[in-house]
Amino acid sequence: MARGVWRNWAGTVAATPARVHHPRSVDDVVAAVHAARGSHLRPRGSGHSFTPLAATGGHALDLRGWTGIEALDTTTGRVRVRSGTTLRALNAALDAHGLALENLGDIDVQTISGAVATGTHGTGARLGGLATQVVALDLVLADGTAVACSAGEELFEAARVGLGALGVVTHVTLQCVPAFALRASERPEPLEDVLGNLDGLFDEADHVEFYWFPYGAQALVKRNHRVPVAEALAPLHPVRRFVEYDLVENAAFGTLCRIGRALPRTAVPLGRLASGVLSAREYGDRSHRVFATTRRVRFVESEWAVPRSRLAGVLDELRALVPRLEHPVLFPVEVRVAAADDVWLSTAHGRDTAYVAIHQYVGAPRAEYFAAFGAIAAAAGGRPHWGKEHHLDAAALAPRYPRFDDVRRVRRDVDPAGLFTNEHLDRVLGPG
Ligand SMILES: Cc1cc2nc3c(=O)[nH]c(=O)nc-3n(C[C@H](O)[C@H](O)[C@H](O)COP(=O)(O)OP(=O)(O)OC[C@H]3O[C@@H](n4cnc5c(N)ncnc54)[C@H](O)[C@@H]3O)c2cc1C
Repeated sequence: MARGVWRNWAGTVAATPARVHHPRSVDDVVAAVHAARGSHLRPRGSGHSFTPLAATGGHALDLRGWTGIEALDTTTGRVRVRSGTTLRALNAALDAHGLALENLGDIDVQTISGAVATGTHGTGARLGGLATQVVALDLVLADGTAVACSAGEELFEAARVGLGALGVVTHVTLQCVPAFALRASERPEPLEDVLGNLDGLFDEADHVEFYWFPYGAQALVKRNHRVPVAEALAPLHPVRRFVEYDLVENAAFGTLCRIGRALPRTAVPLGRLASGVLSAREYGDRSHRVFATTRRVRFVESEWAVPRSRLAGVLDELRALVPRLEHPVLFPVEVRVAAADDVWLSTAHGRDTAYVAIHQYVGAPRAEYFAAFGAIAAAAGGRPHWGKEHHLDAAALAPRYPRFDDVRRVRRDVDPAGLFTNEHLDRVLGPG
């Protein structure tokens, strides 16, 4: 147990829990739940959410020491993993057994339970986010009972993307796929061409995404094709990887951001400069090594899931908005897609989805930008990423999720006293 201030990765959320638990067993989790009775308990993972989901002045449950694989079946491709295991550790362990997660986001430092709980996703028109790969969960509920649940059970449907509001997930069981490689093709293309081909673009490869610097005319389009591991791979040379990822994408970009933040008038030309130095590269590697990148330049993000059919209109409005903002935007806009799924609180629930993520360098003004884009996306039926900044409350979120009231009903049943709530959850789900 330790006292101290906890901060999220971006440094935008801080909390001082009265007590921090570091469980090493399910019994430890049960003990923490009992100890927190009469107060509140918030599980937390790697702290990579931008929203104050994990913040509490009550009891914090730090799961980063509760790690490892408990069962792995190479015949069925199923793996049962302790909830504090990071995606990076999980990917490496799966790879050693010839397995992989079907789709991933762009970093791998989150815990598996933290990533699933907020609907973390990657890109792929025919693929879902991490929660769609989950087939069972073990939880400790507010009354201290340890339960298992799986597809078809209401607790499972509510708790998959459950924001840590239903109970403490102790184990996640995932359906994996045979290990595969990705052939990556990344190249700058005129933004107008990309926007003119939005319908076709996302079907050109298994995983397609693009981003652009708001004042530049070039987009960087990333197309990842799934290929068998046995197919010849040509990973990026370590020196080139160091130069392009560590120096250009992290160190040099970080410097540009610092200059743009200190001297806002330079931000527009610097954004154009960054856009102009985007370079093409082709390489291949095992899937998890291509999906995951290193993000050393700290930023704040807001990401909205809009129906695919609304994407073009939303991007038009976003592009019209940026030049009107009082403060310049220092970070790129990122666009990804996912297939419709049936997870109750998934941002892709029931509809093919496009994700539009906007970012701002830490410490640079973002309120006007995030609020104005949030209004645009919300008006297009958008659902905000649960782990990224947004302004919606339960009243605004409820009509966007057909199963929202079911989640609230299950939550009331399993946690009638609101043990697992905090101020942010009271806002987005309603009082616990
Ligand atoms: C640099 C960066 C890149 C990112 N890239 C992507 C991306 O590509 N795609 C994407 O969709 N998102 C992305 N995100 C968002 C990130 O994946 C999510 O915010 C994710 O939830 C963070 O996981 P975490 O382990 O840090 O969990 P935390 O942020 O610590 O917690 C998230 C939620 O999970 C709950 N939780 C954690 N553990 C448990 C448990 N055992 N039982 C019950 N509840 C639990 C917490 O209570 C909280 O509600 C990114 C974030 C950053 C900072």
